[in-house]
Order: sequence, then C-alpha cells, then structure tokens
Amino acid sequence: MDFLVEGYKKFREGFYKLNKDIYEGLSEGQHPKALFITCVDSRINPSLIFNINPGDLLILRNPGNVVYAYDDEIDYSVAATVEFAVYKLSVRWIFVCGHSDCGAMRALFQEKDFFKNTPKLHEWVESNSKIRNIALDNSIEKSSDFFRKVEYQNLINSLNNLKEYPFIKELLKRNEIQIKGLYFDIKSAHVFIFDEEKNDFIIID
Ligand SMILES: [Zn+2]
Repeated sequence: MDFLVEGYKKFREGFYKLNKDIYEGLSEGQHPKALFITCVDSRINPSLIFNINPGDLLILRNPGNVVYAYDDEIDYSVAATVEFAVYKLSVRWIFVCGHSDCGAMRALFQEKDFFKNTPKLHEWVESNSKIRNIALDNSIEKSSDFFRKVEYQNLINSLNNLKEYPFIKELLKRNEIQIKGLYFDIKSAHVFIFDEEKNDFIIID
C-alpha cells in the first residue's frame, strides 16, 4: 500500500496544509451543494474533473451509475442516499453521470460464462437488462458508437427513474430540485450535459 501512504503524505504536506481552514469548518458538519451519482469506474474522479473541494459534493457510486425505480428491491443505497441528501442535507441539485467505455454497459452483452466467479455482479447487471432490450429493440447497429448509445440510454433511464421517486416528483413539480444528466468522455476528458428538449448530449465548453 506504498502508493497510498505516499499519496497521503503529499496530501498532508500539500492540500491539507494549504486548506486547514476547510477541514476545520467541515468538522462542524457538511453542507454539500449537490449529490453526484456516478459509476465506480476508477477513471471518473468528480472532485478532480469539477475542481470540487471537500464538503461540496456528496458522491454515490455503483457499477454503471444505475438508479433503479424507488420501490425496486434490487438496491436501497441510491434511494437511501437521495433521501439523506434531500431531507437531511437540503441538497437541491442531483447529477447522474455516465461515461464512455463503461464496463457495466459492456457486461450487459456478455455471455453467462463471463460471470462465472461473479454471481452478484451478474445479478446486478441482469437487473438492468431493460437497457440491453431497448438497445436490441431499437436495432442499434453494432457500430463504433453502439456502446455510447447504450451508455446514453442507461443514463436517461436512470434520470427517468430518479424523477419518478415520489418525493422527487413532488419537488420537481414545485421547482425545488434540479436534476441533470452528465456524460464524461474519458479520452478527451470532455463533459456532456443531457439536453432534455433536444434529447441530445451537448458538450460543456
Ligand atoms: Zn462505468
């Protein structure tokens, strides 16, 4: 774990030394500006990409940045975190962020053998099989951007499920919460935002 210790030393000598006041303030409690739901993928580092300080972003990750329906029993962690963010921390911005080259999306198209040591991963991926079916139903050609389309579809589906959470639905009606979809392209490090009216992903510049 040398790399961890080395990194920690740099953190203590660098960022922490320069920002002791941030940690001092945060020891009293947190007031994050937003909840950020993204994939577990190691290449997605929201704090780095958006230049976020400690305490400013509540981050929740799972394989494939999947938000299941509120009453779905697959996973409570997203619903529990959204409740916590909205009711206990008064968060009024929620971002769901997908990304390019997402393994969880590719896993949707793997043979059963691929999951022989990973039954829980298989269960997780299969719970999201709706996305595979949409992609196959729409006969998206297996072109170079096939997986990007699947990643987009998955993100839109997660956004729709989140917007259908009963309390989120109410807050949206009253315009008291904002929900946005983002997509991170790893190679270019560009971020795209989902434009609902245009039904398209627009690059942020
Ligand atoms: Zn991913």
